Amino acid sequence: MSENHTDHATQQLVQAAIKAAQNAYVPYSNFPVGAALRTTDGTVYTGCNVENAAYPATICAERTALVKAVSEGDRTFDALAVTTNSGGFPCGICRQMLYEFAPDLRVIVAMPDGQVLYDLPLNELLAHGFGPKELAPDASR
Ligand SMILES: [Zn+2]
Repeated sequence: MSENHTDHATQQLVQAAIKAAQNAYVPYSNFPVGAALRTTDGTVYTGCNVENAAYPATICAERTALVKAVSEGDRTFDALAVTTNSGGFPCGICRQMLYEFAPDLRVIVAMPDGQVLYDLPLNELLAHGFGPKELAPDASR
């Protein structure tokens, strides 16, 4: 799918992710990532990856956007745009964190020039994911 075939709202979300990547703090990996998470009412929360000298303390762009949204009271999401220089997908930890709130989330993977590489649901990226329903007393298989 090329940039020319994406709708305006999708490209707006991608552009927000591209802008967010400019704030990435990545002195160790030099791998900036930008994310833009859209709520069902249209609010967009952006995030970048923030690295740390103690490497495991690093947080990804997607989770940065997610915790910003949740900390502001938003918990319903319909789309996420992610940009990296390599067209990479969200990591497993981010897939899990996002799945908690939006198993059907649209995940849009794009390049820094706005080209959309993938547009697919989170539940395809995290098949048979573990979510809140698994902890319900009446959960059944
Ligand atoms: Zn991640």
